[in-house]
Amino acid sequence: MASGGCLCGAVRYEVDGPLRDVWNCHCERCRRWTGHHLAASAAAASDVTVGDPSAVRWYAAAPGVHYGSCATCGSSLFWKVDAEPGHLSIAAGTLDQPTGLATTTAWWVSEAADYHRRADGLVEHDLEG
Ligand SMILES: [Zn+2]
Ligand SMILES: [Zn+2]
Repeated sequence: MASGGCLCGAVRYEVDGPLRDVWNCHCERCRRWTGHHLAASAAAASDVTVGDPSAVRWYAAAPGVHYGSCATCGSSLFWKVDAEPGHLSIAAGTLDQPTGLATTTAWWVSEAADYHRRADGLVEHDLEG
């Protein structure tokens, strides 16, 4: 079982199920929310148990798009969209080590910060259309 938590320890969570490999999201929202880019694993929402759900503060960055942070220390923890209620993204840096995961994919690379040098070998995606 994987586990993780925020910087101050107010939020601890467990994942009783498979974790997706890590995707980097460079979109402007994730860039501002994390201060860099969101490196996210993901799991079935029903597999994730948060010890104290009231310790997570949810911010609706857009209709149906929610970012979950620790209400005490501000750590970036979770991301979810109403369109996929069964799916929860988990900020990979909050997982307890070792995760056994690998970074495979970069999203919204056109919005990546100009100082960021993207890793070789990642599958890159950009705005749809
Ligand atoms: Zn915290
Ligand atoms: Zn993003």
